[in-house]
Amino acid sequence: MRDFAGDWNRAIAKATFLCAECGATAAQVALLIEEQPICEKDGQASGLIIQAGFFGEWAQIVRAGALWPVGKALAEGNAAALYEIDPLWAPFFCPKCLRIYCREHWRFDLKFDEEWPDWYDETIGTCPQGHERVIDD
Ligand SMILES: [Zn+2]
Ligand SMILES: [Zn+2]
Repeated sequence: MRDFAGDWNRAIAKATFLCAECGATAAQVALLIEEQPICEKDGQASGLIIQAGFFGEWAQIVRAGALWPVGKALAEGNAAALYEIDPLWAPFFCPKCLRIYCREHWRFDLKFDEEWPDWYDETIGTCPQGHERVIDD
């Protein structure tokens, strides 16, 4: 388990995204640079994107080439830009109405594989305006 509060404090860029319906925090997202680069093939620094509030807390590796765009999106609080980089990094964002919603305002529909019904496939989210998108896979 990562120390989210500690990570949040040492983040180089961070944003809190608020729900367009109720004003609650939809998610907190931050970008960290790891002192010990994680997936070192090219010798470049890599980072981590961390997120809390929507699907619990999670962290994913950000490749060196994506550090600047991710940092810029967070510094600007730009959920659309974050979605463009990786839709699953902005699961709270609806690309059709261009709004952010908290998890209370998304309707989640878990999809399972047709041949292997125990096999989780993806989660489809429906925003309050009725737009669907893949929110997790
Ligand atoms: Zn929508
Ligand atoms: Zn809400």
